[in-house]
Amino acid sequence: MFLKRIELAGFKSFADKTEMEFVTGITAVVGPNGSGKSNISDGIRWVLGEQSAKSLRGGKMEDIIFAGSDARKAVNYGEVSLTLDNGDGALPLEYNEVTVTRRVHRSGDSEYMINKQSCRLKDITELFMDTGIGKEAYSIIGQGRIEEILSTRSEDRRGIFEEASGIVKYKSRKREAQRKLEDTENNLLRIHDLVTELE
Ligand code: ATP
Repeated sequence: MFLKRIELAGFKSFADKTEMEFVTGITAVVGPNGSGKSNISDGIRWVLGEQSAKSLRGGKMEDIIFAGSDARKAVNYGEVSLTLDNGDGALPLEYNEVTVTRRVHRSGDSEYMINKQSCRLKDITELFMDTGIGKEAYSIIGQGRIEEILSTRSEDRRGIFEEASGIVKYKSRKREAQRKLEDTENNLLRIHDLVTELE
């Protein structure tokens, strides 16, 4: 699996639809200060579900929408699409190419899509779980991240190894099953109370 293409439209400094194709091997993005290099990796993390405006270097989520310049008016929505080559079937979908899209409007409405089909953020998170791709995963190492990893508590570091070993999705399913079990136990208690009252 590798990142084949990224499309940004109305996202940060990318007012017009901008498409970048990647090939296998190493790709370096070069450009003057402030030309938008980091905005590309922000776009990747955003489409993968980043919810923190601060970690996208903004104050609020609306700040990711192109705010206008001397030459151009602001736009009403921002959108990023990532296309991954899935020839090796690393993603659990029957497609050779998988495109994930996120769009946000100034009103705050957010949409997510997998291969142009509307989906929930949860579907995107689950799709990439244990693949090393994801907003918190190790495929994106930002400035200062290595230092942060080395200096954080060992429990926090453990998360990175769990993602690499592929057990995150089982832990997440276990948590969900435990929550359902708790809900069911509470429902049973309520039914028991009702039955006792009726007797
Ligand atoms: P450096 O080499 O200094 O790290 P860079 O190439 O990584 O710079 P970025 O930080 O990606 O640059 O881009 C910063 C630019 O993006 C700034 O010019 C900023 O004005 C612009 N920018 C960020 N958010 C928006 C927005 N919502 N609308 C318009 N422009 C934006």
